[in-house]
Amino acid sequence: MRISRRTALRRSAGMAAAAALAQGYADSPASAVPAAAHQGWDADEAAWRELGRILGAGAYLHRPGGQGYLASASADNQRYAAVRPAGIVMCAAESDVVKAVRWAARHGVPFAVRSGGHNYAGYSTTTGLVINLRAMKQVTPKGRRLHLGGGATNSDVYAARDAGLYFPGGRCPGVGVAGLTLGGGLGFNDRKWGLTCDRLAETRLVLADGTVVRAAADENPDLFWACRGGAGGNFGINTAFTFDAVPVGRLRATVFDLTFALASAVDVVAEVQDILAGDGAGDFDVRIGFKHNGQSTTSLWVLGQFIGPQDRLRRLLTPLLALRPRRSFIEERGFWSAQDYLMENPGAKDCYASKSLVPDRWLAPGTVAEIAEWTRTWRPGPAKATGYVTLFAMGGTSDSPRPDETAYPHRDGTYVIDIGTHWQPGTPPAEVNSLLAQTRSAHRLLRNRLDTDAAYVNFPDPDLTDWRRAYYGANHDRLAEVKRRYDPAGLFRYAQAIGTD
Ligand SMILES: Cc1cc2nc3c(=O)[nH]c(=O)nc-3n(C[C@H](O)[C@H](O)[C@H](O)COP(=O)(O)OP(=O)(O)OC[C@H]3O[C@@H](n4cnc5c(N)ncnc54)[C@H](O)[C@@H]3O)c2cc1C
Repeated sequence: MRISRRTALRRSAGMAAAAALAQGYADSPASAVPAAAHQGWDADEAAWRELGRILGAGAYLHRPGGQGYLASASADNQRYAAVRPAGIVMCAAESDVVKAVRWAARHGVPFAVRSGGHNYAGYSTTTGLVINLRAMKQVTPKGRRLHLGGGATNSDVYAARDAGLYFPGGRCPGVGVAGLTLGGGLGFNDRKWGLTCDRLAETRLVLADGTVVRAAADENPDLFWACRGGAGGNFGINTAFTFDAVPVGRLRATVFDLTFALASAVDVVAEVQDILAGDGAGDFDVRIGFKHNGQSTTSLWVLGQFIGPQDRLRRLLTPLLALRPRRSFIEERGFWSAQDYLMENPGAKDCYASKSLVPDRWLAPGTVAEIAEWTRTWRPGPAKATGYVTLFAMGGTSDSPRPDETAYPHRDGTYVIDIGTHWQPGTPPAEVNSLLAQTRSAHRLLRNRLDTDAAYVNFPDPDLTDWRRAYYGANHDRLAEVKRRYDPAGLFRYAQAIGTD
């Protein structure tokens, strides 16, 4: 692909504007982004009209001021809502994605790809062109496989349950399978059947030069490797995914949902760790959450699933139940009904930020006591923001592949730890900074106690300086090689993209 000097200059100007937004305003609430910084990228009107004309049936181009623009401009995280795209292509088919990529390359317009729009760091929004695949959401069963359009979300997979086929997905209904898979994919079934990316059999991508390729073990294997943990928005636009599914139609699962006082945290975590250590088959999966709800309430919740009957789970949980939970719900259900219970209630859109760690050891009692104390002393500020630390249990099948077998490297993790905060749009910057400072202090504390910097790329953190090693460990150099091969000019770019200096 040849790019003129003028185009290259305009592109780098657009990139710089987007990077400035990502870097300079990362710690500010969306409302604090100066108006001049988000007026959109400057392509001429004739070029935009051309894009609108070339799209196929069912696809739309939204421009500022037009119908449908506001509804589709911002992604889920309102922290970046003031980053206003100059245009949004709602793709209906792979051919629209090809046209949008070719058009953006030809006109030097920076772009970001969006599927579920749940990126923590604003990497699926831009002042240039958003290429949105959300409408490409069909889920089609064939034999033991599920074929998905690139814009399908967790909820689309659950809606196709009549086929009785499942692959391990995430908890939030609106999270896109694209972002989830490309960065790894944690859920309540990963200890049993692996990460989402571990079940990927093949995928199709539109590359930077507009060609379409298939990536699988037998074709473009290096790209296939990178698509399992190398994160979205790096190598191309994935327009379709095929997963090796598990028949779950007749399976039963028992959900459990327990809440304790923070004062019991040391004992609760010790008991859960005992159960995890003894569960070689990965039937038991759990998240432990320390939460300050922004008002005056703190809690420790233990939510999970056991693939098996209730009486067996109750026996496993006996020591935990002896710690007298404030609330205890345990119920055996059909597999799908259990997933419905575990699904997160999405609630209203707000602003959020997360930091993560992936330790290779269990949490010592002293560390658990420190997390509990951090939660107890969380300062929500006048905005009544929530603060939390969530432990996603890993291990079982999710740790079976070698660290270099797929691009997701953290195969010795005991937990993925998510340290975060949610706040309301419009919260003053000083208050937001105080919330973020508190998450940084918990991150620092746990990094020292657990002796790791490893982080989960699907909880991207604009603060991280050594993000290459944190997200990818020893796999980073191979990812950079794949990048050079499939996107040599670095058309796919964002603040923490592979290949970014
Ligand atoms: C409320 C909430 C709950 C979450 N729960 C979980 C969970 O249970 N387990 C878990 O593992 N993670 C979870 N996450 C993190 C989630 O996995 C990531 O945010 C994921 O990347 C979101 O994917 P998306 O398609 O929704 O996001 P997007 O913002 O659309 O995309 C994420 C990244 O991938 C790129 N991208 C999007 N579509 C494509 C495509 N088709 N081809 C190539 N690149 C693409 C984007 O440019 C961006 O860089 C959660 C996040 C939130 C906000």
